[in-house]
Amino acid sequence: MIHCKICKSENIRQLKDTENISYKGKILPIPMEYSACNDCEREFVSKPQILNNDALVRDAKNV
Ligand SMILES: [Zn+2]
Repeated sequence: MIHCKICKSENIRQLKDTENISYKGKILPIPMEYSACNDCEREFVSKPQILNNDALVRDAKNV
């Protein structure tokens, strides 16, 4: 279970935002996942999300 490191809340929402990564002269739009705390509005990226985002970047570069 993901919880906020700042206020320990488990009231977390999962968000997705497209980030443009430039790679070999091309722009790769990556739908990056991140989290936001509903209690303190802190935005952060959880460990599983980091791993998932890394995999998305890898996949995009392999195309
Ligand atoms: Zn919080």
